[in-house]
Amino acid sequence: NLILAFESSCDETSVAVIEDGEKILSNVVATQINSHKRFGGVVPEVASRHHIEQITICIDEALEKAQVKTSDLTAVAVTYGPGLVGALLVGVAAAKAFAYANELPIVPVNHMAGHIYAARFVKPIVFPSMALLVSGGHTELVYMPYENEFQIIGETRDDAAGEAYDKIGRVLGMTYPAGKPIDELAHQGKDTFHFPRAMVHEDNFDFSFSGLKSAFINTVHHADQINETLNRADLAASFQQSVVDVIVKKTLLACEKFQIKQLILAGGVAANQGLRETLSEQLSVKEPDLDFVKAPLKYCGDNAAMIGAAGYVAMKHNVFADASLNAEPSLEFDWVPDAVK
Ligand code: ATP
Ligand code: MG
Ligand code: FE
Repeated sequence: NLILAFESSCDETSVAVIEDGEKILSNVVATQINSHKRFGGVVPEVASRHHIEQITICIDEALEKAQVKTSDLTAVAVTYGPGLVGALLVGVAAAKAFAYANELPIVPVNHMAGHIYAARFVKPIVFPSMALLVSGGHTELVYMPYENEFQIIGETRDDAAGEAYDKIGRVLGMTYPAGKPIDELAHQGKDTFHFPRAMVHEDNFDFSFSGLKSAFINTVHHADQINETLNRADLAASFQQSVVDVIVKKTLLACEKFQIKQLILAGGVAANQGLRETLSEQLSVKEPDLDFVKAPLKYCGDNAAMIGAAGYVAMKHNVFADASLNAEPSLEFDWVPDAVK
């Protein structure tokens, strides 16, 4: 089984060739970060234009690197949501055209399922499983009773974790995306500010990061007004500690309440060293029998390899689209009936 996978939901154009849902033969990622940096975030129109320029180059390169001929392919998999509509449309149109021209089936893939399936490059997913999905647009706990079934048990009520990183990064004068530099700076500081940890004691699996973001911004602005210089490393460390504390607490609660065999950490923010370390430590103490799988650092951010892995599973479950497939910017996971929980 050879899948040609497409990803274009945000600011990465990516095409990959995946063998049997687990082996990466190629994974070409063209990032547009440099074009968006000066705007402090992703500009949708700029993103679409870049995807249009890059997509055919990525297809050729992915096939070339994988040493695969078009006639060897089994299917085409493509992210059709969630994401920026204009960005998604480029990948969907390219995948449909490619599939039509080469008489290949189209497998539609939810971008968030793709993030989860990046864990497949470490080891097989075992069910029931739980995914802690932390990214630029999402922060959620996803329960997976069976393969290809996803149920959100808790999620952020306002900002996503990655979004909060990027916004406070701007206040620290960092360019977009700020997650990685804040993570690095945090390791040189201490939690001296004790920012709020929203909803940490609530008996649910939801998150909230906008209060933390405001507390952070107010602290920095107040210091500016009185000409006080704050320690940047301590600011970063304090912010990160708040984020990590809440995420780890809620995840442990979910592991305790649900009978699961495995916990998966995935999404762009899963690259966070503080989160990876703290979650590993806490799980080894509190859930020693639970299998903890971290998406490989290289596949935490957006890429088509993960879409190919998720597409392989969807294909096994007969999930196919025809030429009417459209971009769905607000795509959500299908609801899982109570009976199968
Ligand atoms: P979504 O997947 O929800 O649609 P997205 O695709 O834009 O959103 P990703 O590409 O999965 O998001 O992740 C990008 C986010 O990850 C950015 O907000 C970035 O700042 C954040 N990020 C990357 N590395 C780190 C890190 N080491 N620590 C914290 N955040 C990080
Ligand atoms: Mg991105
Ligand atoms: Fe993403």
